[in-house]
This record gives sequence, C-alpha cells and structure tokens, in this order.
Amino acid sequence: MIDFNRPPVVGTEQKYFQEALENGKLCGDGPFTKKTSAWFEKRFDVKYCYMTTSCTSALEMASWLCDLKPGDEVIMPSYTFVSTADAFVLRGAKIVYVDVDPKTMDMNADLIEAAITEKTRVICPVHYAGVACDMDKIMAIAKKYSLKVVEDAAQGVNAFYKGKPLGTIGDYGCYSFHETKNYSMGEGGAIVFSRDEDRERAEIVREKGTNRSKFFRGQIDKYTWVDYGSSYLPSELNVAYLWAQLQQFDEIQAKRMAIWDYYNRTLKPLADAGYIEQPYVPDYAEHNAHMYYIKAKDLETRTDIIRYMKDKGVLTVFHYIPLHLSDAGKRFGRFSGEDVYTTRESERLMRLPLFYNLRKEDMEYVTQCLLNYPGFN
Ligand SMILES: *Cc1c(COP(=O)(O)O)cnc(C)c1O
Repeated sequence: MIDFNRPPVVGTEQKYFQEALENGKLCGDGPFTKKTSAWFEKRFDVKYCYMTTSCTSALEMASWLCDLKPGDEVIMPSYTFVSTADAFVLRGAKIVYVDVDPKTMDMNADLIEAAITEKTRVICPVHYAGVACDMDKIMAIAKKYSLKVVEDAAQGVNAFYKGKPLGTIGDYGCYSFHETKNYSMGEGGAIVFSRDEDRERAEIVREKGTNRSKFFRGQIDKYTWVDYGSSYLPSELNVAYLWAQLQQFDEIQAKRMAIWDYYNRTLKPLADAGYIEQPYVPDYAEHNAHMYYIKAKDLETRTDIIRYMKDKGVLTVFHYIPLHLSDAGKRFGRFSGEDVYTTRESERLMRLPLFYNLRKEDMEYVTQCLLNYPGFN
C-alpha cells in the first residue's frame, strides 16, 4: 500500500534526541526551542516566533491577542480545517464564511468587503495547499476597516506572497508542524508576529498567564500570575525532531517540489482531455508543494477514482467538508452571500500521496494508475 502521508525522516533525529536528553531539560523553552524560534525569525525575517504545541494553539494565541469579545465576527473561508474557526469560537466570536475562488481554493478576496459588518474584527485567510491568498487586497480591506489579519499559514511554511513569507504579512501568522505538514514535529506549531507591543501579552498567554518569560530574561526578580493564559509550550523532544529537518530545509522543499512537478507534468494529458482539473498557482504566489490535488468531474467520479486507486494499492483522500455544512459550523457561524463554489469544488477535490520520503517508483506508479483509470480512457 502506498500511504497518503508519512512524517519526514531525515536521518539525524536520533542524534538530536540524544542531545535533548543530555541537555537534561525536556520541558518547554529549552535550547532546541530557543534556537528553533531564532532560526525562523532569521529565515523569515520576522521579529518574533514562539513555538507552540500545535497550529491550533497558535491560532488560539492569536485570537487572544486580537482581544475578541463575544459576538465579534471573524471572516474566513468555510473550506478549512475546524481549528481555524475553533480558535475564535472559544472567545465567543461568530464566524462569517466567505466563498472560495475555485481556481486556488483560497478565500475569494473580492467577497470579503460584502461580509463586513460593524461587528467584524478579524479576517483570517487560509493559505490552502501553501498557495498564497491575495494578501494585498486583504491587507487593504483590513486597513480600510481597521481589522486584524490572522494568517492561517498551517500549510504555508516556506511559501511566499510576492516574495514575503506567508505568515509574516498579517498581524499574526500561525504555522503547523503536525505530522501531515511539510516540516513536522509530530504535533506542533508556531506563532509569528513583528509588533513589540504584542510580545509581552503573547508570552503571558503562552505561559499560563504568568510573566515567567520576563523572569527568565532577568527583567523581574519573581514571577506571578498577571493575566489569563494557557500552556502552549512544546516539549524539547518534539522540537529536536523538527530541528533535524531545519538542517535540510531546502532539500525537503526541493524534494516535495520535484514530486509536485512530476505529478503536474505527467497528469497534464488528463487535464488537456478535460477529465480533471489541476492546481492553479497565481503569479503572486510561490508555493511550497504542500499538497498535490486534482479535481474530478463530480462527487461520484471522485468517489470512484478513490476506490479504484485503493484497489490498486494507493491511498488518495478527499479534504475538508465545508464548515458551514457541519452542526457546529452552523451554530457558530453563517455564510456570507452564496455558496457557489465551496461545496461544489470541495466535492471534486482529491489529494495524491506527497511526502518527503515518497519513493520515485511509488510516485510513478501513482500516475500510471491514474492514467489507466477506465473512466479516463
Ligand atoms: C493542519 C491545519 C491546522 C491545524 O494544525 P495543528 O497543528 O494540527 O493544530 C489548522 N489550519 C489548517 C489550514 C491546517 O491545514
């Protein structure tokens, strides 16, 4: 069976685990966490990066930093993972869903303005498949209406918008290092931002509502409970696993890109014949090969292709069920305007195996199977 995903293994993990053990500190903010944050700050030219236990917790931190009150509204696509909404719902916010652009599956920036009410506080673009949303448009709207922008860049690590790293354009950016993402620590994430005013609050929220971070920097001589907060620090062991990949950051991306390009090239005849649609990357976006998907004609065809591929020993999977169709999604939010594309396009989309350690022969087999699918011949 060819798996849909496997966590990246680069070969140096044991060495860094050993080092973490020898450091004698496995709780948060030890040497690996410190150097990993600094690594991202330098690499992505962002002032602050705090490692977290997940992208979900990074989004929760962002929602806290946005100072939301019950009833405030947050605009996002319905075509996203539940965490994007959950983080804000926990603060009592209402979610307002906006339709996707069918070409990228990102929120259609031209529909945002119509979704704004006097309660809107935040726009939360999701960079689907690591393909940037139209950030110039989004930032201009945010400025016009004094809204915060939280980028859900869970899939967008090492992807760019007009040369700027995703996650570093809005007020806050949230990354995921979950096992299914390009760079992984099993479960993990990070929040990035650049405003100095946010630093102290971010540290307090992340450290159970205490000023412990300030204490460790020697700025105060004892730490206490100063505000609300939670515990968002990942263990050093998890970060050590990620550190191994940071040493091969570009190689991992290059390998993923090679697989993505191979799929795209090899499956083009199916697109030319009108059987499938392939991903579209706008000129402003430099993607990170987070995902390779195709779109079948309709739900029925997609179901049949997934079944056929499984029979051939290849796991391909569909993706999000739009949030506004779920019970909680209805309870906590509403769709702005009409759902023209979100449901229809989500029913056609299926993802192919794409991970760092995918073997060349397996990648070739995946495309051979698809090219031989009876419905395409
Ligand atoms: C994976 C993902 C998340 C959640 O990431 P975790 O690290 O598992 O919490 C959130 N949003 C999007 C768009 C994702 O793809």
